[in-house]
Amino acid sequence: MEFSPVCTPEDISTDGCIIKPDRGRRKRKVSRDVEMDIEFLYKAVPQLAKVFRIIDKIGEGTFSSVYLGEAQMRDGTKEMFALKHLIPTSHPTRIAAELQCLTVAGGRENVVGVTYCFRKEDHVVIVMPYMEHQAIVDIIGSLSFEEVRLYIYHLLKALKHIHQFGIIHRDIKPNNFLYNRKRKTYALVDFGLAQGTCDTQIELLKDLTGLRKSSRPVFGERNLNSYTPAPTNTKQAAIKTEVVKPRRTDDAASQKYSSATWGPLPVRTQTSSQKPVQQGLTCNCYLTDRVCNICLSRKPQVAPRAGTPGFRAPEVLTKCPNQGTAIDMWSAGVILLSLLSGRYPFFKASDDLIALAQIMTIRGSRETVKAAKSFGKAVVCSRELPRQDLRTLCETLRGRRPSPDNEVTPLPEATRNSSEARHRKIQDDTPTHRPTEATFKPHKEEAGESPAALLCTHPNNQKDSSSKNATARRPTQRKAEEDEGGWDRVPDEAYDLLDKLLDLNPSTRITATQALQHPLFKDL
Ligand code: ADP
Ligand code: MG
Ligand code: ZN
Repeated sequence: MEFSPVCTPEDISTDGCIIKPDRGRRKRKVSRDVEMDIEFLYKAVPQLAKVFRIIDKIGEGTFSSVYLGEAQMRDGTKEMFALKHLIPTSHPTRIAAELQCLTVAGGRENVVGVTYCFRKEDHVVIVMPYMEHQAIVDIIGSLSFEEVRLYIYHLLKALKHIHQFGIIHRDIKPNNFLYNRKRKTYALVDFGLAQGTCDTQIELLKDLTGLRKSSRPVFGERNLNSYTPAPTNTKQAAIKTEVVKPRRTDDAASQKYSSATWGPLPVRTQTSSQKPVQQGLTCNCYLTDRVCNICLSRKPQVAPRAGTPGFRAPEVLTKCPNQGTAIDMWSAGVILLSLLSGRYPFFKASDDLIALAQIMTIRGSRETVKAAKSFGKAVVCSRELPRQDLRTLCETLRGRRPSPDNEVTPLPEATRNSSEARHRKIQDDTPTHRPTEATFKPHKEEAGESPAALLCTHPNNQKDSSSKNATARRPTQRKAEEDEGGWDRVPDEAYDLLDKLLDLNPSTRITATQALQHPLFKDL
């Protein structure tokens, strides 16, 4: 196996950090902190030293640190591996389940394999083949439409494969789907939050059900302590969002949430299928913008909600207890939305109800309320947010259409050549704890009131410019079109698939198997 050079002198910043993605084997300089982490790892798991020269740290999240290690093979060649050191407090069943996902489903169909696992006391290191990759945030501005199409196709292949084993990944996002642009290789990684479907073939995922309060929280946020979001500078903060515990029966709820009740209300969700809470303890906060003490004292709804807020499906955000493989399909849809619009992260939410409000700005509030009702949740939104035309939205955000108020920039700064973006390499991409450029910019009138995707013009006014794309072009125009990376002729199929992935209703959302058969991929 061959590897290209690890990094060139230009890749080293003044403070000695690697500032470019790894590119192979040449000697690299690492920061003092990383050196110390590597020393610590050698001490924690001494067996590693016999096999690996640990070169660098390539990833760090709340639950693991990932290192690049070089091993001398028996035939004299050297090979690179990713060494994932799990935090010592990870629950043993969690660790074993992650490993079992990799051993049973990994090593094919764009799912990373596992080579070996080391353990000393409570330190566990999972050894995987190293896959050199580029971070999406670094390349999103230069990806062609064809690259996007292939990326999504390969992601769907990986999802089909793991879903066939009854594995729900639960944390589908670009940082967990590695992409080597030059070699066109892909790898789904990180089964650290995976759960099983009711008929999963992964035995250990079955054992996780009673383990919700484990040290690797199944519905915990990542690294929340390292970044305090500033809600005042986002419009999302202005749509008040609350979770309201159930109080009424289905019928009452459906009456109350009919379109006539739209008013100055916050976004709220509640389980409409639950029985009324203790008789005589009815509260006064129903359909108001307050949460009363009775409601505050209700037991929290328990449902899995692992993952990253911006990638979470509506049924996860509303804590629907029955979640299936469809949640991964939603996340794939968010990735596709991000790639088609050239915005990453697309939804940047610090909590679930802000994330839900953002979804409503794209998919419509009535539609969201209706879908939520279908899975037993009642959602109230303070105002009606129209569903957006996906092509118009993506083309506007890409700067291919005039925005209504000239406030939309073609790309967020985070995707440009900022050092923040380059240093991002070894961080987790959880939008809640990495301050990146806001995805949305406020609309003049809506400022401070609602998520900014509202800024996109109404689809009906925009039809003419998309039909222009269909008209024949003279040869002289062809070169310019090639330079546009195909973004001037994104087929309707792309937006049709996006619409089906971002189906608010998990029971009708497209499956991975169906998505692979979508006309967008007919030649693949
Ligand atoms: P965590 O649970 O901490 O998110 P991951 O398994 O997602 O851990 O790994 C974190 C990061 O490490 C990934 O986003 C990726 O950049 C890098 N990484 C993980 N596995 C590999 C691999 N096999 N090859 C190359 N890089 C990897
Ligand atoms: Mg990860
Ligand atoms: Zn109340």
